[in-house]
Amino acid sequence: MRPSDPGWPKPDEWAVLNEQVEGNLIPVTFPIDVLKSAPKSAAAEQLKREIHNPFYLADQPGLTETLGWVDAWATQPSAYAVVARNAAHVAAAVNFARNHRLRLVVKGRGHSYVGASNAPDSLLIWTRHMTDLRVHDAFTPRGCAGKIAPQPAVTMDAGAYWLEAYRAVTTRGGRYVQGGGCTTVGVAGLLLGGGFGSFSKRYGTAAGSLLEAEVVTADGKTLTANAYTHPDLFWALKGGGGGTFATVTRLTVRTHDLPKYFGIVSFKVKAPSDEAYRKLLREFVSFYAKHLFNEHWGEQAHVRSDNVLEIKMLSQGLDSQQCHNVWRPFLDWVKDSPLEYSMVGRVVIGTLPARHMWDAEWLGENWPELAFPRNGNPLHALLDDILADTVREPLFRRDERPGAAPWNFWWDGDGGQVGWYIWGYDSLWMPAGLLANDGQTRLCDALFTASRHAWVELHFNKGLVGARPEAIAAVAETAMNPAVLTAFALAIVSNGEGPAYPGIPRYEPDVARGRASANAIKHCIERLRAVAGQSGSYVNETNYFKQEWQQSFWGANYPRLAQIKRKYDPHGLFFAHHGVGSEEWSDDGFKQI
Ligand SMILES: Cc1cc2nc3c(=O)[nH]c(=O)nc-3n(C[C@H](O)[C@H](O)[C@H](O)COP(=O)(O)OP(=O)(O)OC[C@H]3O[C@@H](n4cnc5c(N)ncnc54)[C@H](O)[C@@H]3O)c2cc1C
Repeated sequence: MRPSDPGWPKPDEWAVLNEQVEGNLIPVTFPIDVLKSAPKSAAAEQLKREIHNPFYLADQPGLTETLGWVDAWATQPSAYAVVARNAAHVAAAVNFARNHRLRLVVKGRGHSYVGASNAPDSLLIWTRHMTDLRVHDAFTPRGCAGKIAPQPAVTMDAGAYWLEAYRAVTTRGGRYVQGGGCTTVGVAGLLLGGGFGSFSKRYGTAAGSLLEAEVVTADGKTLTANAYTHPDLFWALKGGGGGTFATVTRLTVRTHDLPKYFGIVSFKVKAPSDEAYRKLLREFVSFYAKHLFNEHWGEQAHVRSDNVLEIKMLSQGLDSQQCHNVWRPFLDWVKDSPLEYSMVGRVVIGTLPARHMWDAEWLGENWPELAFPRNGNPLHALLDDILADTVREPLFRRDERPGAAPWNFWWDGDGGQVGWYIWGYDSLWMPAGLLANDGQTRLCDALFTASRHAWVELHFNKGLVGARPEAIAAVAETAMNPAVLTAFALAIVSNGEGPAYPGIPRYEPDVARGRASANAIKHCIERLRAVAGQSGSYVNETNYFKQEWQQSFWGANYPRLAQIKRKYDPHGLFFAHHGVGSEEWSDDGFKQI
């Protein structure tokens, strides 16, 4: 049903919904329109400034963090949004959409790469203002007394974002909660797809920590799902994908002990030739397998097309000296190699007290030292003697809008995806067998040949081999593709530009370059697949055009997920692009096929 259809709800019917949601029904505008209608206005200037700010984007019911994807989608506002404040508002929206056969969309923080949280002519459930958070010393899921021991946990309303959870649990509470690496991602969207953070090799996924979810199902009922109540739905929510089984209103996840330190290792090595680059890759992969393939190390190594190996890794549970000791052999090898490798920028190896990892105030005061380290400060990073030049990059940015919460910040590394327009994106789990001695050469050859097409990111924290046994066991109880349990990393290859949006002068996406880049990414992933096999892709960070997505995202779990979808949402009210059951619908989610 679209506004042009005769059955579209009449104004008095919308008015009834507005009453049910206590005045929280709004028509949705599209802020980008101002760049066409009044490009020189103050509002246009403000938009151009704020479109780089993820907090601004998340505050707009008519915008999303990614603005689109060449030949796939471009963000569009819903017709109306229910600015939900509680589960009753969500239930009213669900009932209204079902009764009037409206296309329903659920949006938290709008970080979906595949555009799953926007659709034109739809009714949006916008959870942005459901942000309550409660920390528990001893939480028992409902109906589970005597079955599940009470444990430390945090309950988060569906519109919260991970930085808020880190602030409550870590900065204030001195414990750890498994969320995302990006501070501004929504708690619900991330967890429903699985959810990795920098330290997933120790703590597993966000879904693996789920104790209980409150949801509104397609029949408008509010249910609590946990290991003993609606256990099938509970399992499906743990990685079965966002916007699919129900609208989540509240999540409770267990919290974990916090290590004393988190650490950062960041440097770039440039090889003078292809041959030297291949050698560097072999040395690094062998070093990774021996020294980093464990619960302490997460995040990324980038195998770049310009023969630069870029290390951006984070550690947990090691002090600064231990981090140095771990990396020394590799850095010595680079320094002593006759192949004339050079360092691009600084080598940073350092730690910070784990409690301050997401503490903007502390980082604000101490970051200059972390980013531009001084010798002699044992807490902070030390300059290595193979330093070549001094590229100084900010590490995080704040929401500087008037009245913004002072603790809000985002890592600079995520900044390139704020308001971006994707050219191509794909991911692939890399089986851990490739780290065995006889696999390393094949892996390195594949990385090298793949990198001739596009820049490969290896996200070590997004493959669970090497993780703590408890973390692996918890993830095995989720609906994610079991390939995550046999992978040492997730390879991500992506490219885009931004901010950009079709039809906006000076912001037009470069479609020709976008298509060329998508093609390069396809070839790059094919080279990796040649050694990884059909190992699957992570639903939250994947290709819009994925073929055989059911197998790729969920592997052998798909039939069970499809059954649960039929049970809780038999008429397909909840639709997400390449979500479970979406094969029964047209690509735009409007028509059953
Ligand atoms: C810059 C950036 C960094 C990222 N970093 C990480 C990372 O470190 N680790 C990681 O695992 N992933 C990461 N992701 C991917 C991220 O997990 C997904 O994009 C996630 O789905 C975003 O959730 P959201 O609520 O912000 O997005 P939205 O776009 O609002 O939602 C995403 C999906 O979840 C659904 N959804 C949202 N809220 C609800 C709800 N209450 N009930 C039911 N369905 C809901 C939506 O309908 C949509 O289908 C990153 C993404 C970006 C853009």
